[in-house]
Amino acid sequence: MNIVLLGPQGSGKGTQAKLLVDKFSLYYFEMGKFLRELAKTNPLVYEYQNKKGQLVPDDVFFFAMKKLLEGKVKENNDLLLDGFPRNIRQYETLKNWFEQLGTKINKVIFINIPEEITIERLSGRRTCVKCGKIWNLNTTPTPPTPEKCECGGELVQRDDDKPEQIKLRLNEYHKNTEPLLDLFKKENILVEVDGNRPINTIAKDLQEVVEKTRND
Ligand code: AMP
Repeated sequence: MNIVLLGPQGSGKGTQAKLLVDKFSLYYFEMGKFLRELAKTNPLVYEYQNKKGQLVPDDVFFFAMKKLLEGKVKENNDLLLDGFPRNIRQYETLKNWFEQLGTKINKVIFINIPEEITIERLSGRRTCVKCGKIWNLNTTPTPPTPEKCECGGELVQRDDDKPEQIKLRLNEYHKNTEPLLDLFKKENILVEVDGNRPINTIAKDLQEVVEKTRND
């Protein structure tokens, strides 16, 4: 079973993904994180992520991503893909590639939130440099101080969560990712979930979707 998580930035995909992974033992692939790792050694990736706020060109990462995911499919893992595919071309590529591997995308879960919530959440997001925990200054539980994690580590803001970058990323989302929704609807694999509710309420909905998908 392979599931794609889709939603605007700040829709809580990462939080929900962690809960699903714990419950269903899925292999979680987070595209943004995969590329942030790549950016440490590849200045082009860094530029797209943190200066242009645009999708990184496919040929820069596709080979490495394919190698990783193909291994996981061959080991019979259930995949939870977050952040890929993000445009129609990536979807067509993934579809063909999965077909060759004898697998498919079973379900796309779209976590939807209004744009003003995206902006509020992204501008408050902070990551601890020591333990990696992600906090949000605008939602509870808040960290002990805006600069310090509970572990004592320093909290930093991602370069691409600064206001100008948020705008660029949202434009990119509207242009490239939203058109995918119609395609998923046509293919009858889309489930939409309201992401502007408490974490546990959303998690319950998502668990039901995954359970149903697993039993189909
Ligand atoms: P995220 O953490 O998911 O918001 O992604 C951060 C950044 O990584 C995006 O703004 C893009 O520059 C890049 N990125 C994430 N997913 C993709 C993708 N599927 N294709 C190309 N670039 C991506």
